Formats: sequence, C-alpha cells, structure tokens
Amino acid sequence: MELSNYLKIYPSPQSPESLLLYSTSRGAAVRVPREVLDDAREGRLTREEEAALTRLGILVHDTDAEREELRTLFDQLNSQCRPFTALVTLNLDCNLACVYCYEEHFRGKRYMTLDTADHLIAHIRTERLAKGRDVILDFYGGEALLSLPILRHIATKIGEDASLYGRNFSFNLVTNGTLLSRELSAELKRMGLQSTRFTLDGPPDVHNSQRPFTSGTGSFERILENMGLICDTVNVQLGGNYTRENYRRFPELLDILIEHDLTPERLGMVTFSPVMPNTGEAGLKDFSIGCASPNEPWLIEASLFLRRETLLRGFNTPRPKISACMVEFDSDVVINWDGSLYKCPAFMGWDDMRIGTLLDGIHDYSESHNMDVWKTDECLDCSYLPLCFGGCRFLRRLRTGAIDGVDCRKEYLDAALGDIVHQDLELRSGRKVP
Ligand code: SF4
Ligand code: SF4
Repeated sequence: MELSNYLKIYPSPQSPESLLLYSTSRGAAVRVPREVLDDAREGRLTREEEAALTRLGILVHDTDAEREELRTLFDQLNSQCRPFTALVTLNLDCNLACVYCYEEHFRGKRYMTLDTADHLIAHIRTERLAKGRDVILDFYGGEALLSLPILRHIATKIGEDASLYGRNFSFNLVTNGTLLSRELSAELKRMGLQSTRFTLDGPPDVHNSQRPFTSGTGSFERILENMGLICDTVNVQLGGNYTRENYRRFPELLDILIEHDLTPERLGMVTFSPVMPNTGEAGLKDFSIGCASPNEPWLIEASLFLRRETLLRGFNTPRPKISACMVEFDSDVVINWDGSLYKCPAFMGWDDMRIGTLLDGIHDYSESHNMDVWKTDECLDCSYLPLCFGGCRFLRRLRTGAIDGVDCRKEYLDAALGDIVHQDLELRSGRKVP
C-alpha cells in the first residue's frame, strides 16, 4: 500500500505528537500519532491500521491507478445514466436593484415565451425522459417568480411527461425571496419543488443598501418573513454576498435568524460568498460566486471567519468535497430565456460560449471550453486536484480574456484548507448536521 497522491498532512493544534491526515479525494480526516505516518511510509502498519487508512482513502493500492482514475473521472461519470440537470433562466427582469448585479447590462423585460417553453418541454421529453433520464431543473432569473405562469406550465408538463415515462422529476428555485408566499410554496411543492435558495446580504441596513427593491425600499423584512413562512414546507438554503467593508457584520444576520426562530434545524446550507467584480459582460452573479474560491488575503480571512461563525451557531455550511465545474458534466446545461444553451450561467451573454439552442441542439464545445485544461502533470500530481479540477473557467477568462489555462486554487487552499478541516472536526462534532 502507498500513501495517496491526494493527501494533506497538517499539524494537530491539540497535540504536537499528533498529525491530522486529510484525504482530498474522500473528504475524510483522521488524527493519528506522528509515528503512524512514518510506519505507513515504511510499510510497518498493522493490518488493522492499514485497513482503516485505506477505508479513508489515505492509503491506496497503486498511486498510478489512482491518478488515472481521477484523470478519467468525468468520462466515467458521463457514461453513467445521470439525471439531466438544467438551470433554466426564465427571465432577466427583477423587482430588486442589487448594487452589484452582474445582469444589469442585459437586464430588462426579457422573458421566456410560451413558444420557447414548449420547445424546452419537447426537448426534455424526447432527448432526456424518453432516453431513461430523470430530470432536475433549477429555475433562475432575474427573478424566476416574475415568470410564474411559465414556471407552472413547464413544471406541470414535465411532471406529466415524467410520469408517462416512469422517470422522476423535481425542481429547485433560486429566488430573491420577496415573492414566495406559504401558499405558493405549497403549490409549487405539489409540482415537484424540492428546495429554494434565498439571499440575505447581512443585517438589515447592509442588506437593504445592497439589495433594495427597485423603488428603493428595503427588502430585508419581506424576505425574512417569507423564509419563516415556508421553511417548514420546503428546504430553504441561504446565501449572502459580502464585501471587504461589511463581512464582519454578517454574524449579526445569523443572530437575527435565530431570534426569529429561523434556527439551524429549520434551514439547509448557509453559504456566504464575496461580491464578485462586475464583468460588464456576462451574467448570473449568485451562481458564479458559488463556484469561486477567494485568493486575496482579506478574502481568505473573511471566508474562514464567516465559516467559523456559521458553524459556531450550529448552521450547516458546505464541507470541502470533490467538486468540479458544471462544464465537465455532459448532462448539465443552462437554458437561457430565449432558448440558447450554455454550459455555465456565468457565460450567458458571451456569444462565443453559447453551445447551441433548444431547436438546433448542442454543438462541440470542447475547444471553446478547453475541456482538457487541467489534464496536465502539474494538476494530476497536485494533492488539491479533487477539490479543484482546474478551478473556474469563467474566472480564468475574466482574468486573461480566454480559457487558456487553469484558475489555480493552490494559494487559497494552502492558506485555508487546514483551517477548514480543523473547523469541521472541532465545530461539527456532536451537532445535528444534515
Ligand atoms: S465556469 Fe464552472 S466553476 Fe466557473 S462559474 Fe461556471 S460552472 Fe462554476
Ligand atoms: S489548478 Fe492549481 S490547485 Fe487546481 S489542481 Fe491544478 S495545480 Fe492544483
């Protein structure tokens, strides 16, 4: 047995005699006496020790095979019958005027028409359900609930088609939270709604200055109230966007949630992300932020601080895990309001990143999206590969104007991963974390 290529070794703050071993491919961590690592290197482990470390992915039979497994991971996953997942942008309109909105340059009264919705329904019926795929849609905007009749139409028809083909259909909703009443959430749940994602940008004064209604009035109270009304009917995830100036105030929001009985047991994941620079070109801020890892020192400090404050109060927040850009998955697609297709919502608005249309199908995008960008010795030998797979193509293009290399996360992961693993061991144990 050999030590995995995808292994990080950290000192243990609890005891200088111990080490923390973390497998980036399994997301598994274990504290061991220092000599266990020496024994593993020298082949002196007992059978029990060897079996335990193999189970955690810290020891592997063959590091070359492990490397090859990761190099071909997405080929294998794409050959399996995975659910078809599409992010559907129903409109580019919004009743909020967020100061950092990426979509501002192309925001407006642009809505998916009934005609385009029917093409979408037909595409999913013939290309996905009829071929044995389950279907999961994420409805997005602008504000998705400004397109309620079309959303109902799509969800009802696809639900009926899925039953005919004996497949599963469900959907999620990314919403600013101002329009989702208890009655509406119950109705949408009957159509297949699984989870919603709300956004609150910190305590009321911060949120209201960043996410006011278009009239200029604050939206915090309305969103908080709606969250309270629906969180027992569907899973509610919470996001929030912070800046260098205001991130230290976000714990106030967590305390306000608890004061309003929006306790950790009643909410799903809570994830705070930095406001991204406005591109002036491409779209969908919330999604792209979710994929990014901060590299600047203040961002690393802010992300660790907010993660700790979130866990300290018992809220759940994502663990580091195998994660890849949705571009890697054949079964993932973004359907824009006009029927054009993309591989990532952040690319909407860039004509050269369009991969087709509902009517014409999908063309080859391997070159435009530089599909093999991370299949280099540098990445394949990097212990962070399972958490990174070359990072974010969108951010790379923002920086250099082209997807001509990786968006390397080494600096961030070097600075943050050890603390994140320690946070998870220290702050999650004994808590009820779904
Ligand atoms: S390019 Fe990939 S990683 Fe970046 S925002 Fe899009 S889906 Fe996420
Ligand atoms: S992009 Fe950087 S961090 Fe990511 S796998 Fe490659 S070398 Fe490692």
